Amino acid sequence: MNIHEYQAKAVLAEFGAPIAKGVAVFSVKEAEAAANELGGPVWVVKSQIHAGGRGKGRFTEDAAGEAGGVRLSRSVAEVVANAQQMLGNTLVTHQTSPAGRPVNRLYIEEGSAIARELYLSCLVDRENGRVAFIVSQEGGMNIEDVAAETPEKIVTVHVDPAAGYTSHIGRSIAYALGLEGGQIKQCDRLIAALYRAFTEKDMSLLEINPLVVTESGDLLCLDAKINFDDNALFRHPDIDELRDPGEDDPKEVEAEENDLSYVALDGDIGCMVNGAGLAMATMDIIKLYGAEPANFLDVGGGASKERVAIAFKIITADPNVKGILVNIFGGIMRCDVVADGIIAAVKDVGLEVPLVVRLEGTNVEEGKKIIAESGMNVISADDLDDAAQKIVAAVGGGVQ
Ligand code: ADP
Ligand code: MG
Repeated sequence: MNIHEYQAKAVLAEFGAPIAKGVAVFSVKEAEAAANELGGPVWVVKSQIHAGGRGKGRFTEDAAGEAGGVRLSRSVAEVVANAQQMLGNTLVTHQTSPAGRPVNRLYIEEGSAIARELYLSCLVDRENGRVAFIVSQEGGMNIEDVAAETPEKIVTVHVDPAAGYTSHIGRSIAYALGLEGGQIKQCDRLIAALYRAFTEKDMSLLEINPLVVTESGDLLCLDAKINFDDNALFRHPDIDELRDPGEDDPKEVEAEENDLSYVALDGDIGCMVNGAGLAMATMDIIKLYGAEPANFLDVGGGASKERVAIAFKIITADPNVKGILVNIFGGIMRCDVVADGIIAAVKDVGLEVPLVVRLEGTNVEEGKKIIAESGMNVISADDLDDAAQKIVAAVGGGVQ
């Protein structure tokens, strides 16, 4: 689960990380009040969306001009003008889809005098089985570019879970970041706080880009992005409450409520599969034959007819879907249950696109019979390869 920058900063502040003063607002009026409360003389108006690259982003409505999603403002009137242009507008960044994200919240933050912009992130390094801090003196910009062009400028420091955080780690990071004097002690305290926040709140990714050194020589977390481990959210009701439903794909929300693993993608072939491995193999083979999957969907091992029907409806609700491939290998899952579920869904919402069904395994004959007798326009397939070729041909795509 992702949260907004202002929420992430509040979480980090609980652990003692240094952040600038700021107020989250939902309207122009609130923005004006926040600007007066903060007092200036410099404010930054920051669009709150679950995507990075906001500073270099562009709004879709022309009135917003070329100024991007993070704007320095030098008077209350300027804060108000910026808030007016940004709220209700749509922001496109290199991390959003080309359609962008609606901006419904802003963070009005005290402007900081920046001397240096650094990069810092913390994640679980699965290869080492350790939490890793990744830092670079090249902050504020796209870290992917730094990694590609000058990988030597990125330094990784691991934390041994048995020993936990030690000052040695904070000092190594301080030296890697070129910090000096009192900043080294500040860095030690910051990394200790971040490590505690990361582990206690079950984060999977924490990124502070930029971490800045101010003109007065202090460290400040100027941006914050946090991703939490969904499987641990039950331990953190306070974090779960920070969810912004406006940022979630409604199809993904519905899938989650029904225990379906669903991820929306950009292609046009909807996939309904049981088992994550088979789902990935299905996506791969669709790509092999030159088309793109519209989603990843694992209906799970022992899905009921109702859940199969919901899964099918989620797929058909996606306007990008031009064809559907059902690929079920019945083990615990019975093919007749799948067939019943599909028929129930089609009765409810209709079927406007080609449907290829490949069933194999437990009760396969009953399943095939149910579908054959349903009168639905189904293209049946014998194996995965055959199924993929048929659906790609049916949507008129492919490389052949
Ligand atoms: P994003 O990464 O989404 O573009 P950031 O929060 O990193 O958003 O802001 C982009 C840039 O704007 C930062 O690299 C920094 O230079 C500047 N900036 C952000 N917040 C402040 C602030 N409070 N004071 C001064 N400059 C800021
Ligand atoms: Mg940033």
